[in-house]
Amino acid sequence: MEILHVTAECYPVAKAGGLGDVAGALPKYLNQLGHIAKVVMPMYRTKFLYNNQWEVVHKGYTNLGNRGFEFTVIREATNILGFDLYLVDINGLLDREKVYGYDDDTERFTAFQIAVLDWISAWQHKPDVIHVHDHHTALIPFMLRFSYKYGVLKNIPTVLTIHNAQYQGWMDWSNSHYLPRWDMWKWGMLDWKDNINPLASGIKCANVVTTVSPNYLQELKYMSNGLEALFEYEKGKCVGILNGIDLDVWDPSTDTYLSDRFSLKDAEAGKAKNKMELCDRFQLSFEKPLIVFIGRLVGEKGAEILPGTIHDSFVHVGRRMNYFILGSGFPEVENNLNGLKYLSEQDYNVYIGYNETLSHLMYAGADFLIMPSRVEPCGLNQLYAMRYGTIPMVRRTGGLKDTVIDYGDPGGYGICFNDVTVGDATHAVWRAVELYRNKKKMQELRQQMMQLDFGWETSVKQYVSVYSRIV
Ligand code: ADP
Repeated sequence: MEILHVTAECYPVAKAGGLGDVAGALPKYLNQLGHIAKVVMPMYRTKFLYNNQWEVVHKGYTNLGNRGFEFTVIREATNILGFDLYLVDINGLLDREKVYGYDDDTERFTAFQIAVLDWISAWQHKPDVIHVHDHHTALIPFMLRFSYKYGVLKNIPTVLTIHNAQYQGWMDWSNSHYLPRWDMWKWGMLDWKDNINPLASGIKCANVVTTVSPNYLQELKYMSNGLEALFEYEKGKCVGILNGIDLDVWDPSTDTYLSDRFSLKDAEAGKAKNKMELCDRFQLSFEKPLIVFIGRLVGEKGAEILPGTIHDSFVHVGRRMNYFILGSGFPEVENNLNGLKYLSEQDYNVYIGYNETLSHLMYAGADFLIMPSRVEPCGLNQLYAMRYGTIPMVRRTGGLKDTVIDYGDPGGYGICFNDVTVGDATHAVWRAVELYRNKKKMQELRQQMMQLDFGWETSVKQYVSVYSRIV
């Protein structure tokens, strides 16, 4: 089968979170199974663009409402990622340094989707499936079916994967003319609560909708930022498929971001070296258990309870642990975390920003990784942590519930808690500190976690069976 993935992110070209990791791995593993998977994404101004070779494969001219624009599609020339990668260049719209966060994101991603469909219309052999990801590309199933211009593509089946349903790409109806002329009778396929809602439209129009974990799919029926009824109504075409992790990138024995690599056999020594490096660089004390957080400092991740948890655990559990935080997000949370530095007695530090290399060192060097998430569609951090012998401390939600079993339960290896509160998280910290005193148990858990199989093999097969059903 030939599958075209349309996405806003793809590691290592451009990544803001889990979507990037998935879009960089899934196509590669599909190709390894003998399918042809390709990726098309916007051409941002990223390092990857300047460090690789490209060839122009298509030039076109199209419209976003009344605004005409030229676009160019280029292909990476050496197949360096293990799949064909295409970038769409639209001058003045997509050529930015960041992926998201601009006032004209609606125009940027709508223009991108139109350019992609114009380009595919010109292909001689059409792909068997078009697979879109999140709201940035979720208008494609609608346009395929109801924009007159794309009649030749009408019968190509589509899959929408929801990596995060919190963001839906809401557009005012006054922007409806952005979409190439479409069948007005079908306005209801765009509408949700008096707005154009691209994610809702994707759910209505795609042949199959997948979420990135089975438990998240269940949760969306009662907590999906306004789409609950839609998920209930469309449940017949929804499937939860757990993300895998890309072992070519996330393996402590081959990880090129680490200077001290390790495997199952020398995990204790290897982790200690990485912890030492972290502690030296960030003035932390090596003897105490190191608890880290990596991620966006936003409400979904429960980030606002981190400062309180750190403060309260110092008071109630005692200064028996270290913390190191990596992330960026709400200014208030960033300020509170920065403010806590005054408390530090070599047991707390924070790095505000995005840093891929540092994140790998943290997965490798930490003893525990805390995720007090309110919403977690799949969560990759806990999977990376386990692979690197770091014990996850997670709130029981979404994919965290699917992947982490509390060490107090049969076969368990992590620490789980129920609520996004300072009290619950502090209790989890206390459990971590107590567990850390038992060196033998820590070693056993590390060995157990590092052998868990969260690779892509199983998930890719599930995607293939979804495609086979609709082709
Ligand atoms: P999200 O909801 O942000 O997509 P995921 O758990 O699905 O969350 O994916 C998070 C990915 O982003 C992981 O690969 C994680 O290591 C990475 N990440 C998040 N924040 C940062 C950061 N500040 N620096 C480096 N990597 C980060």
